[in-house]
Amino acid sequence: MEKGILIVLSGPSGAGKGTVVKELRKVYSNLAFSVSVTTRQPRDGEINGVNYHFKTLDEYKEILKEDGFLETEEVFGNYYGTLKSEVFSKLDKGFDVMLEIDVKGAMKVKEQYKDVCTIFICPNSIEVLKSRLAGRGSESEETFKVRCQGALGEIKQAEKYDYIVINEDIVDCKNDILAVLKKQKGLDISQEDEERVERCLSKNNKDFIERLTNGGI
Ligand code: 5GP
Repeated sequence: MEKGILIVLSGPSGAGKGTVVKELRKVYSNLAFSVSVTTRQPRDGEINGVNYHFKTLDEYKEILKEDGFLETEEVFGNYYGTLKSEVFSKLDKGFDVMLEIDVKGAMKVKEQYKDVCTIFICPNSIEVLKSRLAGRGSESEETFKVRCQGALGEIKQAEKYDYIVINEDIVDCKNDILAVLKKQKGLDISQEDEERVERCLSKNNKDFIERLTNGGI
């Protein structure tokens, strides 16, 4: 059986990543997601083993000691980590595996796996980002500010990724990612998809990122 490809999908909370992922799941049956470990508290509606493996700090440390993480990072005061077992078992079964991780984690994976395809989802404006974060309503004012600053910091690093996908329209954004993945798998792709891939190349979005982050938050 042919091994799947490894994909990293990053983007600040508020970039609409969750919605994009939901749409991808509907149409891409060969896509598997790696469920990360986190020490943060579950939000309303989050399910253990589905959204994350929610662990105590001691449990997290135990996995760390056993070298069970492909990468692990502290994000906003909590620990997050990608389990080697999750990723490798799914790749071996032929699934294309997507990791939804932060920028630092993404770069760590890239160091170890040159073939990984890294995609950054970016909001189309800072206003959209802020309203998505505010709309979430699950965080205190202080956490909101920290997340806004964190988001801006992440967006400034988007150029480190192979592709930058701007999430202005959910269908378009989904189709951009599908085109990139087809290309990455070496499949024949249409002219329209070729154009999508070209448009999403990181080097073709430098100016956009600069404009977006220039004004601060
Ligand atoms: P949230 O708490 O909003 O679910 O996620 C906060 C941040 O942690 C997001 O940027 C998310 O991509 C990142 N994250 C989630 N899982 C992992 C992981 O396993 N490793 C790393 N490095 N970051 C993660």
